[in-house]
Amino acid sequence: MSEHNFKKVLVANRGEIAIRIFRACYDLGLHTVAMYSNEDTYALFRTKADEAYLIGENKSPLGAYLDIPGIIDLAKRRGVDAIHPGYGFLSENAEFARACEEAEITFIGPDSGILAQMGDKLAAKATALACGVPTIPGSKEPLRDADEALERAVSYGFPVILKAAAGGGGRGMRRCDRPEEVKPAFELVKGEAHKAFGNDDIFIEKYLVEPKHIEVQVLGDRYGNVVHLGERDCSLQRRYQKVVEFAPAWSVPQATLEKLRADAVKIARHVGYVNAGTVEFLVDRDGNHYFIEMNPRIQVEHTVTEQVTGIDLVRAQILIAEGHPLSHPSIDMGSQDNLHIKGYAIQCRVTTEDPANHFAPDTGKITAYRSGGGCGVRLDGGNAYTGAVISPYYDSLLVKVTSWDNTFEGACRRATRAVREEHVRGVKTNIPFITNILSHPTFRSGACHTKFIDETPELFE
Ligand code: ADP
Repeated sequence: MSEHNFKKVLVANRGEIAIRIFRACYDLGLHTVAMYSNEDTYALFRTKADEAYLIGENKSPLGAYLDIPGIIDLAKRRGVDAIHPGYGFLSENAEFARACEEAEITFIGPDSGILAQMGDKLAAKATALACGVPTIPGSKEPLRDADEALERAVSYGFPVILKAAAGGGGRGMRRCDRPEEVKPAFELVKGEAHKAFGNDDIFIEKYLVEPKHIEVQVLGDRYGNVVHLGERDCSLQRRYQKVVEFAPAWSVPQATLEKLRADAVKIARHVGYVNAGTVEFLVDRDGNHYFIEMNPRIQVEHTVTEQVTGIDLVRAQILIAEGHPLSHPSIDMGSQDNLHIKGYAIQCRVTTEDPANHFAPDTGKITAYRSGGGCGVRLDGGNAYTGAVISPYYDSLLVKVTSWDNTFEGACRRATRAVREEHVRGVKTNIPFITNILSHPTFRSGACHTKFIDETPELFE
């Protein structure tokens, strides 16, 4: 039998993650297919695949990447064996995974049943509870109406947070500090959820004050083996969106980390999880941890885990989808004892957002681009080159700069150097904002919580 059950892999995504996946395929000797929208005709990522095809000619810029029948049709016509969905777009879409299964094309991710279960935050919380994993006190069923929301808010005590069960990407959430805020917030989140996710189930939970966001990377194979690859600290957030992430979460007590890791594995085992996934927790000031959700896909910040473990997560995803066990030599995680975490890695998301203008996405032509580099620095880019046009249609991520060093301090210095070396002219970037974070004493001390950015005005200067 040949090493590979796949010959051709289609990446149903764009930008840096498409390139990241093409690279993993190349390393495995697999043929790659890109798909791109009209707006991405001149995008760099499509040139990095062996073949590239226009998709969704009559669709909107986003619609092209969400066109399930169009993508399946392309995959069939081009003899594709497997589709990698990346993150965002269709990566957590159970219907898409089902369409792949029906077309006998392997979806590189968990099966559609798991996607459906984990795509609903309430169902995911119920799963965690069934495993004996702590969750934040809150409603277990969707709220009937705004009256019930208020009733429950009063019983939990303020602050509380209203969340869309189908929410994601930091959208569909509203914090309430006072009773009079609850009913309007309920209507707002309901409307938003209906529009953005086509599902307006809303639930409520206690809002934790100044927690850390710690998430555990897990891998599962088809033979019931599940391991974790340590955790990431993703507390540096702006409006519920991550900006800077690092691994390991060295400032959280070891005993808490042990519990998080064990609980993440427990949940993944319980659902029969196959492929790469992330189990997200909030950790309060007393070190209590609470499950919030599981993301059944590769995450933007996976690079920091790769840098400290030496494991190529995207390659692992492909090998697992091919039916290989975690003990495959190119994964080398046949046992939890094979995990060796070395040093510290920090990922900075360089975006075309202007910190001086409320982080409004900037667009236009990059008139000059020079990238950073050097020892201990990894760049995952996709949109940045001299002459590239940044369109308003897609997310504003320009390049992910990941640094590694033996010490956290060293990783901070390398990250600062590498981010400063990124020269981007013609469009505004958040580089000054990132370097302010990296040099802040609270960041260096590991004490950042999820509200740190919002509460630290000097970061915006
Ligand atoms: P999404 O799916 O949109 O990423 P998450 O459920 O993962 O949403 O939450 C994103 C962020 O929102 C968390 O990292 C945290 O900062 C904040 N958050 C979510 N739930 C709570 C809560 N109950 N209390 C405090 N902050 C919360």
